[in-house]
Amino acid sequence: MTHAWLFTGPPGSGRSVAARGFAAALLCDRQGCGECSSCHQAAGGTHADLLLVRPDGLSYGVRQTRDLVLRAAAAPVYGRWRVVLFEDADRATEQAANALLKAIEEPSPRTVWLLCAPSAADLPTTIRSRCRLITLRTPPTSAVAEVLTREGVGEKQALAAARAAQGHIGRARRLATDPAAARRRAEVLRVPLQVGMARPGGGLGQALAAAAVLVKAAEAEAAAVTEELDVPEREAMRQAFGEGSTGKGVATAVRGSASAMKDLEDRQKSRATRLKRDSLDRALLDLAGFYRDVLAVQFGADVELANAAQQEDLGKLAAAGPPEATVRRIEAIMACRERLAASVAPLLAVEEMTLALAAR
Ligand SMILES: [Zn+2]
Repeated sequence: MTHAWLFTGPPGSGRSVAARGFAAALLCDRQGCGECSSCHQAAGGTHADLLLVRPDGLSYGVRQTRDLVLRAAAAPVYGRWRVVLFEDADRATEQAANALLKAIEEPSPRTVWLLCAPSAADLPTTIRSRCRLITLRTPPTSAVAEVLTREGVGEKQALAAARAAQGHIGRARRLATDPAAARRRAEVLRVPLQVGMARPGGGLGQALAAAAVLVKAAEAEAAAVTEELDVPEREAMRQAFGEGSTGKGVATAVRGSASAMKDLEDRQKSRATRLKRDSLDRALLDLAGFYRDVLAVQFGADVELANAAQQEDLGKLAAAGPPEATVRRIEAIMACRERLAASVAPLLAVEEMTLALAAR
């Protein structure tokens, strides 16, 4: 039995879902029947022998990792294995990765590590060379649409959302079921036409306005997701500390709850930062996908368009300039993503990009 497995695949390809399925199979007496209580607990993340690690912030620290390594080494409560599922293992800091490496180098005999990352290159060689690699690919549009229809989304809408999300199932689900998310995406996709048509004066004003719209739309999207995650967590915390109760012990409970609440707030804050960054990156990918479609129209390529619904806009932009200009624009978007990853102020980086998009 290999003690360390690395699940890789692009965002939305289902890395952690696959890893969880594998964990369930290891923990179940019947190799993952999907029906017993062990399988249900694994799926729900409540199995006593399954440690789920999901970094909330931008990085995962060494203290957290050491703590995890200790807990991972304990003997299984029920069956043969203790499974650690580490989502976004690429977010481990260098020191954390060292702590992780030590655990994987000298594994406890009954512990299995399942790491998830976008690609093997995102982890230090020392770690990935000790893992058995499982590579997932982006699911085809039809498969994503099928999942959505099974969940009750109309067929046409499911297909449109699956195309728009380009294989990212979670994103497709959101676009299909949350009209506000779909509206924000449409706002982002108006940017190319807004800045792309010839204008007297070079369209400087439009480019800057478009940048502001883009950043705002991404922020609104992040705020919506953050709210959805934060509110139930805060509610659960309040209930755990019995807010509103009176009597003996309340003062102690209040003191304890204040510090736990502070912890929660810190965690939520760092997650909010990450969600903001992810959301802007997602908007830029949507934009790059749009120009990719423009390029496909310019070349008359027979490929599936992510933005088939905006056929008219695509045609206008395709006719407005040569393919070289479209390639240059896609490059400007990719450069912007890199600048954002290097922590350049979002509005500044995006303005620079929309100016490049407007340039002919
Ligand atoms: Zn089972």
